[in-house]
Amino acid sequence: MQILLATGNTHKLSELQRVLPVCLPNGEKIDYAILPNFHITLPEETGTTLMENARLKATYAAAQSGLVSLSDDTGLEVDYLRGAPGVHTARYAGEACDAKANNQKLLQVLAGVPPEKRTARFCTVACMAWPDGHVKFFEGVCNGHIALDYQGSNGFGYDPIFIVDELGKRFAELSTDEKNAVSHRGRAFQKVAAFLANNTSL
Ligand code: IMP
Repeated sequence: MQILLATGNTHKLSELQRVLPVCLPNGEKIDYAILPNFHITLPEETGTTLMENARLKATYAAAQSGLVSLSDDTGLEVDYLRGAPGVHTARYAGEACDAKANNQKLLQVLAGVPPEKRTARFCTVACMAWPDGHVKFFEGVCNGHIALDYQGSNGFGYDPIFIVDELGKRFAELSTDEKNAVSHRGRAFQKVAAFLANNTSL
């Protein structure tokens, strides 16, 4: 069977491909397809919650491709900022911003805030959508805090400034497998993997 991974982010794809199972419990192989092979461009993330955006992407991909499709939407919630940037995490520094600009803005906004008040969490909602429109959600959370500076060269997005509480290290200092073991996306997709491992047919 084929499952379409409905994300254009190559960093996410390499994380997902290390978590998701290669076959169903009946031994049937799962072939993971990616968006460029279907010439599908995902719709704008116009939802007001991670769940709405994850649903938007997965249902669109499933309707266009005719395949069971998997999407994820992630937000970074900083307690000192009362949960911001949240659903706006990708565009925190403006519409045309990149990861560097987002990180710079967050460090700037938190300038002078002491480490114990820099608590935050990454939240992921993964959505599995079927071509008939029905969906299933899987959630994952990773608690941490926002560092005072940048460190590490792995990963993407806010990885150089997010310190994972249970490891005392930043995501950017972890291998893909180490990150997957504790990350928001890793945890959400471990639940997807468990669902696939318990379903002979989808
Ligand atoms: P998305 O909507 O799921 O693509 O995620 C929104 C934004 O969150 C991305 O553009 C990244 O800046 C950030 N983000 C998502 N996942 C991660 C992660 O695992 N590490 C660091 N930043 C992330």
